[in-house]
Amino acid sequence: MTYMKTATDYWFSIEPYVFVGITKKCVLLYNTLDGATIESDKDEVIELLQETLKKENCGVVLLTNERYKQKDINSFISELREKYMGDIIEVALTKGKPIQLLPFFNFPNKQEIYKKHNFSPLKDVLENLSEISIHVDSTTDVTKLIPFLLSIPGNPTFNIIGNIEEVANYSKLLSYFVQHLSPKNMLCSYKNVIALQSAFENNFSYRISVHFPIDIQQWNNSRQLLLNQTLPVEYVFGVSSDDDCLKAEQFIDRFKIEKYRLNPVYTGDNIRFFEENVFLTQKDILATFMTIKDFFARQSINLYDFGKINIMPNGDTYANLNHPALGNIYIDNIYEIVSKEVEEGKSWFRVRNQAPCDDCVYQWLCPSPSNYEIAIGRPNLCHVQ
Ligand code: SF4
Repeated sequence: MTYMKTATDYWFSIEPYVFVGITKKCVLLYNTLDGATIESDKDEVIELLQETLKKENCGVVLLTNERYKQKDINSFISELREKYMGDIIEVALTKGKPIQLLPFFNFPNKQEIYKKHNFSPLKDVLENLSEISIHVDSTTDVTKLIPFLLSIPGNPTFNIIGNIEEVANYSKLLSYFVQHLSPKNMLCSYKNVIALQSAFENNFSYRISVHFPIDIQQWNNSRQLLLNQTLPVEYVFGVSSDDDCLKAEQFIDRFKIEKYRLNPVYTGDNIRFFEENVFLTQKDILATFMTIKDFFARQSINLYDFGKINIMPNGDTYANLNHPALGNIYIDNIYEIVSKEVEEGKSWFRVRNQAPCDDCVYQWLCPSPSNYEIAIGRPNLCHVQ
């Protein structure tokens, strides 16, 4: 195509490090170098950006002088230039249409992602495994569990979840982990802390869950056990009300707990607590600094679940306990289990592509959908829509 060159027509372009979120009613530009943003609900601006983002335009469109003079376009471009997020250049100063390579995200589904990255079935699928959570109770069969764990390649993080003392021959399981180079975490209630033999000590971290009301005698016992060991400890306080938060803070203060976090718990009747403390506001969303890679990751994988597998005491495996089982470790091998998630699963690739998020400019700024969305039964936990 040839263009009439006049002194006052321009080429309009967006910088490649700018992420553009666009809906029919609004547009958001996010500068991944410094976190600056521009939002606009002006029809002219939305139209200009829609054209710019068309693949065939390669991030550059002709901006006629008449269009440039339009009030909304003019002030948008001034702001864009002030924030180094885009530019205009006189057509007369260029030999032809400049080319700008925008980082398009172009993986329509998970199978495409795998094809695009040229993942070979066995090796690369298993390379995604990053965390194995082993839920234990009195029915856990260590003699069957260990051979399965031995078949897991690489060094994923292992979490042992539950009361390990209930497991027959649990020291065999711990001995297996001692030899394993992976990071290992023991996740249990403060009521189930055990004194690990000194040989195990330096290989594990503790993540201790605490729910109210707290049995102070059991707390004191477990606290003493943990102080007698050198294991790194993180306390996770389950909180379902403002009162719980207050109590947790007092506890943290009283026992001088250094590493802790508060974990909101949905009880079915504390939605107000969630609205006030968990639901995101526009300010919260924009406060998170994002790189172009972060935007792409949020469009392709669930950042909470990706790479993670749970093994239940009966051997059933899940990517996320809220979704159907992927298999059973006594029947299926690790490759079959992971392949099932990659091909048919609902967890690793659960992204924010449902209404109303699919029509929101913050769609790829918001964190991946979590288990709270499932528990509450809402696809969006925000005050935006
Ligand atoms: S949760 Fe969904 S609707 Fe709410 S701000 Fe995020 S993307 Fe938009």
